[in-house]
Amino acid sequence: MKYKAFVGIGSNLGVPTENCEEAICLLNTSPKIEIVDRSNLYESEPVGKIPQNWFVNTTVAIKTSLDPESLLEELFKIENSLGRKRKEKWGPRIIDLDILVYENYVINSATLTLPHPEMTKRRFVLLPLSEFAGDYEHPIENKTISELLKELPENPQVRKISSTG
Ligand code: ADP
Ligand code: MG
Repeated sequence: MKYKAFVGIGSNLGVPTENCEEAICLLNTSPKIEIVDRSNLYESEPVGKIPQNWFVNTTVAIKTSLDPESLLEELFKIENSLGRKRKEKWGPRIIDLDILVYENYVINSATLTLPHPEMTKRRFVLLPLSEFAGDYEHPIENKTISELLKELPENPQVRKISSTG
C-alpha cells in the first residue's frame, strides 16, 4: 500500500466546507501525520431519521508513525479543537474524523474497528476515496474501492462541490 491510512472527514454544522479544510490543515500540522493525497469536497444527503443539513465530506490519504489507537486519539484531539461536542451518533456535527483503513489491518476493539464498518455502504466515503484509491483492495471484502462503489445505489445523493488545486 502506497499510504499508511485513509481518513474520512465530514461536517454539517457552521460552515462545513471551511471545517473540512481546517481539519485537513490540522492533520497536516500534526508532527506525526503527513497528508499525501486528498479528494475534492462532496455534498451528501444526510442518512438516517434525524432531520439535518446536508453534509460536506472528503477523504485524505496519510503517512503516519502513529499506531492506529494513537492516530484515533489524534483525530479526537483535532475534533475537539474544532469544537466538536459528542451527542447522538447519527446527529449533526461540526466535524467528524474517522479512520477508514489503516494499512490492511483488521481490528475489532472496544474503541476501534478497522476497516471502518460503515465505509462499504457509504457513497460519501467511497466516491471521494475513488479519486486516489480506486485500486485499493478492502481487506475483508476483497474488492477494490471502485468495485465497492459500483455496487452501491445512487441514493442517498452525493455530488462533487469543488475542485482543489
Ligand atoms: P460516528 O463517526 O460513528 O458517527 P463518532 O464519531 O461519535 O460516531 O464515534 C463514535 C466512536 O466510534 C468513537 O468513540 C470511536 O471510539 C469509535 N470508532 C470505532 N472505530 C472507529 C474508526 N475506525 N474511526 C473512528 N472512530 C471509530
Ligand atoms: Mg466518527
